[in-house]
Amino acid sequence: MDHFLYKDGQLHAEDVALEDIAEAVGTPFYVYSAATLTRHYKLFSEALQPLPHQVCFAIKSLSNLAVLKLLGDLGAGMDVVSGGEYLRAKAAGVPGERIVFSGVGKTREEMKLALTGGIRQFNVESEPELHALSEVAHWLGLTAPITLRVNPDVDAKTHEKIATGKKENKFGIPISKAREVYAQAARMPGIQVVGIDVHIGSQLTDLAPFEAAFQKVAELTEQLRADGHTISRLDLGGGLGIPYTRSNEAPPLPLDYGAMIKRTLGHLGCEIEIEPGRLISGNAGMLVSQVIYVKEGEDRTFLIVDAAMNDLVRPSMYGAHHDIVPIVEAAPGAEMQDYDVVGPVCETGDTFAKSRAMTVLHEGDLLAFRSAGAYGAVMASEYNTRPLVPEVLVQGDHFAVIRPRPSFDEILKRDTIPSWL
Ligand SMILES: *Cc1c(COP(=O)(O)O)cnc(C)c1O
Repeated sequence: MDHFLYKDGQLHAEDVALEDIAEAVGTPFYVYSAATLTRHYKLFSEALQPLPHQVCFAIKSLSNLAVLKLLGDLGAGMDVVSGGEYLRAKAAGVPGERIVFSGVGKTREEMKLALTGGIRQFNVESEPELHALSEVAHWLGLTAPITLRVNPDVDAKTHEKIATGKKENKFGIPISKAREVYAQAARMPGIQVVGIDVHIGSQLTDLAPFEAAFQKVAELTEQLRADGHTISRLDLGGGLGIPYTRSNEAPPLPLDYGAMIKRTLGHLGCEIEIEPGRLISGNAGMLVSQVIYVKEGEDRTFLIVDAAMNDLVRPSMYGAHHDIVPIVEAAPGAEMQDYDVVGPVCETGDTFAKSRAMTVLHEGDLLAFRSAGAYGAVMASEYNTRPLVPEVLVQGDHFAVIRPRPSFDEILKRDTIPSWL
């Protein structure tokens, strides 16, 4: 459920008409609903009750400081995958003890940043990383709390670019090798083992792969405890999928996910951490755009809109589907037409939808891409020197620009021409 609904024939985010935002901000822009973000965070937190738990929002899905502040104030922790994201979490007021650091390529600089700034744990993904972290922590006279990210070799049955839990993926330590690496970790200076981490992929629409992975984590917990390690936290990663179409998809709900976690891991007495990104932010955001031209091709009609692949790359990168809806509600029984919805970028890949049946649209009409809150604005670029798309946050009947559109002057000033040219 989200808070983007038609009221009096106009699409609203909560109580704000998207047309009013378009008038104030210009198009294209991202808009997020504070109520939806809040609701999704609470669904997860409630689903894990009564287990001790920490929900760590995966910042990489949507990293605007205003969003992080909103979630952090509700009690959310943060899952970061870079020094930059760590600094974002801190800048949003999230204390270090609620930040977990994931990622296969943490540099020594990033380790130092998190160790000195405060960190809940590092999710370590390889032996070389473990050695580096031990060195850095020891040198600083600090202790790094760690989990090892294990790769359980299960098929997440999702898009190949976002599956991470198979042995051919670059992520984690093979679960068969885990006991050996934990034994090494226990002997290393500056390292304190606190738990186990697993994350098998994104946009999973079935609980079975999660359950298979979590069962392996349960077995490993018992083995590691028998080996003498303290395993008090289990970080289960993110990955729960969302419906991208209104019609047929029904991915599992956080409540079912929580029940499955309690069933498979509840008896171990561990604190449970989860790292949802997409399920919190995905359906909490839309990308609003305007039709520039309606172009009649030989055998199709192109809707050329002012958003492009640089603003929302998911369709061209993953072949992802986004529902596209008009801002002015279509009358019941209104005429429909098939459109190829494309942006202005000079690439054929700059296509959002092919032969999509939509109500008839004209130059100047506004439309919205649904489910664009996750992996939308964060992946945006300025390809074709298109200014970085702005972001807007709505709460109740008011809205604020939480990242303004840069001016062309600002964009051009970032480049410097060397004196010898
Ligand atoms: C991407 C990622 C997440 C979030 O995944 P979602 O599918 O957005 O929930 C969580 N943890 C790690 C380690 C990730 O890489």
